[in-house]
Amino acid sequence: MKAAIFYEPYKDLTIEEVIIDKPRGREVLVRTAASGVCHSDLHLVDQTMDINLDALKNSPMGAFMKPPLALGHEGAGIVEAVGPDVTYVKPGDHVITCPSVFCRSCEQCLTGHPNRCQNPPRRSAGEPPRLRFKDGTPVNQFADLGTFAEQMLVH
Ligand SMILES: [Zn+2]
Ligand SMILES: [Zn+2]
Repeated sequence: MKAAIFYEPYKDLTIEEVIIDKPRGREVLVRTAASGVCHSDLHLVDQTMDINLDALKNSPMGAFMKPPLALGHEGAGIVEAVGPDVTYVKPGDHVITCPSVFCRSCEQCLTGHPNRCQNPPRRSAGEPPRLRFKDGTPVNQFADLGTFAEQMLVH
């Protein structure tokens, strides 16, 4: 599939061929139908947000902020496949992506405050990227999403 890749500040994104894995565990493979272009994406490109890419390399945030990076975090599309532990959506469902993940089972989620989730089910920094170039170089997904792409593999 093709994705718009961010390499470094002040440079145009490049459209490149990227290999995407099959969904594992609680992951969902989505065919992208549309994506917003948010200022948060632009902040990374033009460095108007206080992001120090070097400082992020070893932080949990680093895994989904580090170039090469498929940008975009406001996507919509159609589910193509789901991992074996997914029960909430199925192939054919129309979905939107959300960078604010929540567990739906902690006290905050159950009292109507999923934005304050105590156990957000994110990929950990140690997990391997799900996208890669043909030469094997990993491609990270902005906010674990990467919606500037033909497909998204999301948690
Ligand atoms: Zn946004
Ligand atoms: Zn929760």
